[in-house]
Amino acid sequence: MTNDATRDDFIDWLRDAHAMEQQAITMLNGQANRLEHYPELRAKFEQHLQETKAQSAQLERILERYGAKPSAVKDMGAKASAAMSAFGDMMAGDEVMKGAMMSYTFEHFEISSYKILIAAAEVLGDHESKGTLQNILDEEMKTAEWLAAHLPSLTRAYLARDAADMDAKR
Ligand code: MG
Ligand code: FE
Repeated sequence: MTNDATRDDFIDWLRDAHAMEQQAITMLNGQANRLEHYPELRAKFEQHLQETKAQSAQLERILERYGAKPSAVKDMGAKASAAMSAFGDMMAGDEVMKGAMMSYTFEHFEISSYKILIAAAEVLGDHESKGTLQNILDEEMKTAEWLAAHLPSLTRAYLARDAADMDAKR
């Protein structure tokens, strides 16, 4: 059965996802701007940045349909990114590799978030939102798959530059 509690949970989770996408915009923007020697990865970050901005807008439209607004600053995205940058700080100064690891991790954080939202939309019988959320999930999964597929070649490119004493970090 569904009632106001179900609806409130869904709205809370939509707000969390919106905060997460705002965080993603900041991260993707930063990474794309920093990269100099890895044009393929940079182009991927730029492409997913555009998708991410659209995802954020789609979440805002769902929230509007529920008469709700995104939170000003929901701290979940910030906490997740703090945890991930702490994780990054433990590693050597190999920004591009660290960034790729964090991005792959973040995409999976997003994937789990949309799987939860899709299940909740299903419980609410909200087919329109479910379709939108499913499309976003597909974009996150494709991005995660692209990163997974390119981690080995990225590693080789990094190692080759570093071995040749060229700037490898960015
Ligand atoms: Mg996203
Ligand atoms: Fe994403």
